[in-house]
Amino acid sequence: MDSIINIEDKINKLQKKDKESYKLFKAIFNVSSASGTMKIPSTFREKVRLYFGKKDHEGNITESVNEVIERIGTQKVVKTYNKWTGSGSLFNSLRAGRPGMREEELQDQKKKIDEYIHKSGEGCDFCQPEIYTPEDIFGRIKGKYCITGANIAKYDAWSSIIFFNKHNPLDFTQDEISDYIDTGFKWFKKVKNQDKSFKFPLFLWNCLPKAGASQVHGHAQILMTDNIPYAKTQFLRKIFREYMRLTGRNYFKDLYKVHKALGLSLDADIMGFANITPLKEKEFIIISYQNPSKSDEVKKTIHRVLRCYIDRMGMNSFNLAISCPAFGESMYPYLIQMVDRGNIFKSTADIGAMELYGSSVIADDPYYVINTINEFI
Ligand SMILES: [Zn+2]
Repeated sequence: MDSIINIEDKINKLQKKDKESYKLFKAIFNVSSASGTMKIPSTFREKVRLYFGKKDHEGNITESVNEVIERIGTQKVVKTYNKWTGSGSLFNSLRAGRPGMREEELQDQKKKIDEYIHKSGEGCDFCQPEIYTPEDIFGRIKGKYCITGANIAKYDAWSSIIFFNKHNPLDFTQDEISDYIDTGFKWFKKVKNQDKSFKFPLFLWNCLPKAGASQVHGHAQILMTDNIPYAKTQFLRKIFREYMRLTGRNYFKDLYKVHKALGLSLDADIMGFANITPLKEKEFIIISYQNPSKSDEVKKTIHRVLRCYIDRMGMNSFNLAISCPAFGESMYPYLIQMVDRGNIFKSTADIGAMELYGSSVIADDPYYVINTINEFI
């Protein structure tokens, strides 16, 4: 089976069979690997078996002490690095080999989440946004399944919220998520009509407090900046221009081509892929030259990927961002990025000093991610 741990074999194959993709790969990425070893004292061996031994469906460990020690004694780590963005990730063979959640585990977890979300509904202001939230100076935009309001503690001069009609943020259909996106783009237009100097839209969705949301109730953030886009968008725009200047090529299209050549892209007529330098777990990127609110295909893909993550892979908190080109700009694409932010029932944060100041440490194999998505879609 394909795995990020064996990605160097894939790259060697590219070098022999697909020189064009190999050249693009080398222009954007560095990939290397190394093995770490350790000695386990005899006093710790049994505990290591308990912590790391492979388990059957009933939770019984099926490996002997020696088998476990041999497996964890040497750990291969694959390092991926994007030379343009400076982003890099580390994949450990021990983590990458983890099995996905079983159906019963998924059902158990879903019950717990439903309980948690149901409890949080008591006295929820976002359940009655027209009564308990401020509105923009031009009023509210009403979608079929949501309504906008101003952000009471603004991120920026134009910073508002889309309140979903449903309290439960993990419960959304294709129609509902399409309506959230469409309503966001209606708001962007409204702001631009209000003040022509604001032209860079950003759509954000922090799902549940673990992913940075202040409230459990389903809601997305919508922002507009003036001539200078937000820092990360600005940085990517700089890369886009620099890549174009030096190679005469489109950075984002090449990024997609490399992922496609490595077998990490969607089986669909859309530029979607599981990133080999993910910021955190399951990072998925869609590059679109069509405004997402005008593309049913893009909206459908966003919905299917998120549903796959939630229903099939057990994800329960995530971030989604749609960074947009300036109004009327056609060179730069819309970037849709989604990332899993860890289990809400685990108290440890998914991001530590390593992610902030080193490289991202990743457990989910991008090949497992893309194969599960393609199967689901
Ligand atoms: Zn609510």
